[in-house]
Amino acid sequence: MSDIYVRFAPSPTGALHLGGARTAIYNWLFARSKGGKFLLRIEDTDNKRSKVEYVNQICDSLKWLGLNWDDEPVFQSKRLEDYQEAVRQMVKNGRAYYCFCTPEELEERRRASGEYRYDGKCRSLSETEIKANLDAGKPAAVRFKVNAGMTQWTDRVYGTIKVNNSEIDDFIIQRSNGIPTYQLAVVVDDIFMRISHVIRGEDHISNTAKQILLYNALDYPVPEFAHLPLLNGTDGKRLSKRHGATGVDEYRDLGYPPEAVFNYLAILGWVPKDGNEILKPEELIKRFRLEDIARKSAVFDVKKFDWVSNEHIKRTDNEKIYNIVLPILIENGLVHETPDREMQKYIFKFIDLMKSRFRTYRQFAELGSYFFKDPEKYEGKAARKNWKNESVNQRMQTLLEALKELDDFSGSSTERVIRQLSEQMEISAGKLIHPTRLAVSGYGVGPGIFELLETLGKETVVRRIETALSKLPQ
Ligand code: GLU
Repeated sequence: MSDIYVRFAPSPTGALHLGGARTAIYNWLFARSKGGKFLLRIEDTDNKRSKVEYVNQICDSLKWLGLNWDDEPVFQSKRLEDYQEAVRQMVKNGRAYYCFCTPEELEERRRASGEYRYDGKCRSLSETEIKANLDAGKPAAVRFKVNAGMTQWTDRVYGTIKVNNSEIDDFIIQRSNGIPTYQLAVVVDDIFMRISHVIRGEDHISNTAKQILLYNALDYPVPEFAHLPLLNGTDGKRLSKRHGATGVDEYRDLGYPPEAVFNYLAILGWVPKDGNEILKPEELIKRFRLEDIARKSAVFDVKKFDWVSNEHIKRTDNEKIYNIVLPILIENGLVHETPDREMQKYIFKFIDLMKSRFRTYRQFAELGSYFFKDPEKYEGKAARKNWKNESVNQRMQTLLEALKELDDFSGSSTERVIRQLSEQMEISAGKLIHPTRLAVSGYGVGPGIFELLETLGKETVVRRIETALSKLPQ
């Protein structure tokens, strides 16, 4: 067994967002590429903001992405005793001390001195003073004693980072209500979980020096750190709701394939050396290296994401798409609950014809509905362009008559008719093809027209052209 242990440590104060998912993916890829363990820790000590429903939502999103974790998740809310024990130990050996300063006193001294950092007043209390205060039941926080010196680490992404301890004040590790602070809980847990590599967002760089001091005080080896640049939108600002959907569950509900979300987040800020960007998790595992992560912030570009997603759908086999898309078609009232054999075959043809055009599974029902019901309207721009005036009705009437005559409605047969007619009329084939497409689908673009006509079948095509003749031009 390798001694690589990593963790994903979300705070359950909201659903899993794209940035968090990317952090989880990098941890997972690292663990899986090294034969290590990927652990989950729920950081729920803030019981005002933490909610069980978010825990469930985060776990569901991780599972949906295929980010299976090893062992049982660790909940910080169940580990108070361990934190308090670590604090007791540090107080005992002089690495931490009780602080009886009230918030009001701190505020007053800050205002007087203009210095925000703690002034160390309670550092020098005598044993007797401390005992007297504790016996009197005075609220006591515990502060970590930061000694002079330099703290540094070699970040696997950012390189060497040095912090002068004079920049760090004696920070609180346990509040007066006995609840540990984030800094303490993270370190005690990372020790408990034997974490070898802490891979997390760059917003935690400012915590790392404090945490290294705690490792030293608790006499445990310091893990490796890798901080990940944050996710921005295409405008260079930190990714937020302003940029559109940011929750993993929102992308699931929009019908994006999980492997596309996984793939795109994985290659944001790290491109495999062979330049191949469309990769399955197994392929990403083989190529992933922490050192290759770029230091500059990663840009979430919806257009590129849509491209990645479309590439995945194209490569997904029809059977799998069928199983995903059928319930969506049913839900949209396009197909009956239990399609018969003929309908099943028809859906497979539909998938084969259309899968290269869609970026979500929902689009099969939204943009492909005309395979199952007559178009209710015609795309305005395409109608204005391709069915300008009554002369189109004349042409299309002639085409309709010719199509009605056909016994063989195969693609090659309808193609022959359209080509012959266009020659006779001395017009380009497009002058028949575009209005036909508009009539049968309602759209100006779509799959190859002859294949489409064959798939829809004679009866449907004839009916839809008749309807179009009565409704167009608009
Ligand atoms: N709970 C923290 C967060 O959600 C992560 C802490 C850590 O990775 O050390 O940002």
